[in-house]
Amino acid sequence: MGLEENLPSGVLLTSVEKLVNWTRKSSLWPATFGLACCAIEMMTTGAPRYDLARFGMEVFRASPRQADLMIVAGRVSNKMAPVLRQIYDQMPEPRWVLAMGVCASSGGMFNNYAIVQGVDHVVPVDMYLPGCPPRPEMLMDAILKIHAKIMDEPLGAKRAAELAESGRRTPMIPSSVKYAPKAKKSAPKTAPTVTAGGE
Ligand code: SF4
Repeated sequence: MGLEENLPSGVLLTSVEKLVNWTRKSSLWPATFGLACCAIEMMTTGAPRYDLARFGMEVFRASPRQADLMIVAGRVSNKMAPVLRQIYDQMPEPRWVLAMGVCASSGGMFNNYAIVQGVDHVVPVDMYLPGCPPRPEMLMDAILKIHAKIMDEPLGAKRAAELAESGRRTPMIPSSVKYAPKAKKSAPKTAPTVTAGGE
């Protein structure tokens, strides 16, 4: 796990805030909830090829009371909106919402009276994921960005007010950059030696 590299002397110091956030992001359980074609990509993400279980997320919960992440996978019809809101209300705090795909984020190509033009009209959204449909890699990238947000969340109203005042924002680095293998240091090139007479 690379823990030894971070613990050279066997001592680890951290804050309660970081520890709590780490436990939250390491066991993010999504609600079993799919609305349209995007849900197929979401299911694929949980299957062995992409293996969402690596991030502590293998359990899609059938009960919203045991879930803390709502992945809105697909377009939301006006008829479905109150149901979606009820499921959200039944989820315990803290909870997060990911709008997966262009339909959930903005209505997408379904610009008509039957479809909600963005699920943020119904529930607060923490992360918007574009694409039609977004591939499993994109969904995992969005989930890792939610992890980064969770790690930065303040505990308590006073800390939240302090952070809001400072204007600090969580850097959203693409996972392909953040988790890219580190380049090995190569030996410095020696400058060509020039001898007298140009030889
Ligand atoms: S974004 Fe595309 S794949 Fe996803 S629900 Fe809409 S039409 Fe289907």
